[in-house]
Amino acid sequence: MIKKTQTFPVIIVGAGAAGVGVGIALKDFGIKHFTVLEADVVGSSFINWPHETQFITPSFPSTSFGLIDYNAIALNTSPALTSGKQHLRGIEYAAYLNKMVQEFDLNVNENCKVLAVEKRKHIFVIETNQGSFQCQYLIWATGEYKFPQIKPFKGAELCTTFSSIKTYKNFTNDNYIVIGAYESGIDVAYNLSKNKEVEGILLIDKTDTIKINEQDPSLSISPYSRQKILDVNNLNLDKIVIYVDIEIDKVVKTADGYSVFSKTDIFKTTHPPILCTGFLGGEHQISNLFDFNENGKPVLNQFDESVKTKNLYLVGPHVQHQNVIFCFIYKFRQRFAIVANNIGKYYGLDNSDMINKYRKNVMYLDDLTCCEHNCLC
Ligand SMILES: Cc1cc2nc3c(=O)[nH]c(=O)nc-3n(C[C@H](O)[C@H](O)[C@H](O)COP(=O)(O)OP(=O)(O)OC[C@H]3O[C@@H](n4cnc5c(N)ncnc54)[C@H](O)[C@@H]3O)c2cc1C
Repeated sequence: MIKKTQTFPVIIVGAGAAGVGVGIALKDFGIKHFTVLEADVVGSSFINWPHETQFITPSFPSTSFGLIDYNAIALNTSPALTSGKQHLRGIEYAAYLNKMVQEFDLNVNENCKVLAVEKRKHIFVIETNQGSFQCQYLIWATGEYKFPQIKPFKGAELCTTFSSIKTYKNFTNDNYIVIGAYESGIDVAYNLSKNKEVEGILLIDKTDTIKINEQDPSLSISPYSRQKILDVNNLNLDKIVIYVDIEIDKVVKTADGYSVFSKTDIFKTTHPPILCTGFLGGEHQISNLFDFNENGKPVLNQFDESVKTKNLYLVGPHVQHQNVIFCFIYKFRQRFAIVANNIGKYYGLDNSDMINKYRKNVMYLDDLTCCEHNCLC
C-alpha cells in the first residue's frame, strides 16, 4: 500500500536534547503544528551512553533564583529535580527528555528514520522508513553521538568506538590503549581503572589536553573530568598512564593483538584500542544542503539557518559562529528561541514578550560578542 505524504508547516528531525528543546520553544513562540521525526526513541543517544557514564555539567534546581539548571532544555524545568541527581547518567537524562515530551505534549514519531531530504521549490520533501513527509521549515537536530569519527587514521575501523560501549563491566583484559584524551577518553580510562582485572590503561593524545586550561570548556577538559584524572586519593589512577603530544597514524592487527603506530613509537595491546577521537555532525547526512567552513562546521546565518538552503535550520552542538562554540547543552539551548522566533516571524507572530521571558532566563542569545572566550583571571 502506498502511504500518503504527511505535510506539516515545520518538521524537526531528531528527538535528543536539541530536537525536544527547540520543539518546546516552537510551542512557546506560538507555532503549534509540527512534528518530530526520530530514527530511534526520544533521547536515544543518552540511552546508548555507557551505563556508568555521567554528565560532566552539574544539575542543580536553581530556577526560582533565575539560574536555570545547566542541563535543562526548557524554562522552569530541571533534570536535577526529575532525577534527584547532580551528575546524571545518560538513561536518567533520557527520562527527563521523555518527561518534557509528555509535559509539553510534543508530537514525536519514533522509529522514523530520515533517509533523504530534497528541496523542491519552497518545500522540503523528506523520505523516511515510514513514508514521505513535507514541510516548509526544516529543523535539523540529529546531534553527533550516532556519528563517530571512524576514519581519523589507517586501521581505525579495527578499534572499538566510544559510542559502541554499553558498559565498562565487560572490559576485563589486563591492558587497554585509549586513543584520544579528551572528555570521552578520560571517561573510558577512569571507568576502566575501576575494574579490578584491568592493570594498565595507556591514554594517548596528540595534544596535552590536561595542560590546556581555557575558560571555555569546549576547548579544555571540564573541571569534573580533571578532578577525576588528577584525584591523588584515587588509588586506581596509578593504572592510567597519559602520553601526550603523540599523534597516532596507524593501527594494525597482529597475530597476538594490535600495534598502534605514531611517527616515533609503537604501542602494543591484546585488545582492540578504544577510539575516542570525537564525532562527525549528523548534518553530514544532508551535506548537499549546507556549506561547510574550513573546520568542517556548517555555515549558518545569524538565525542558525543554512546559508545554502533557505528555511533549513540547525540546532545542537554543531552550531558555531566564529569563536562561539555551542557544544554544550547550556550553550546551544540559548539558540532554540532564535530559531523559533525567526520561523514565527514568517507567520506574522509578535513574540516580544516571550523573547523577554527567554532572555531573562538566559535562553535567548542574539549578541554573540558576549561569549568570546576571553578570561581576565
Ligand atoms: C559521554 C558524553 C558526555 C557528555 N556530557 C555532557 C555534559 O555533561 N553536558 C553537556 O552539555 N553535554 C554533554 N555531552 C554532549 C551532549 O550529549 C550533546 O551535545 C547532546 O546530546 C546533543 O544533543 P542533540 O539533540 O543535538 O543530539 P542527540 O542527543 O544525539 O540527538 C539526536 C537524535 O537524532 C536522531 N537522528 C539522527 N539521525 C537521524 C535521522 N536520519 N532521522 C531521524 N532521526 C535521526 C538520533 O537518533 C538522536 O536521537 C556529552 C556527550 C557525550 C558523548
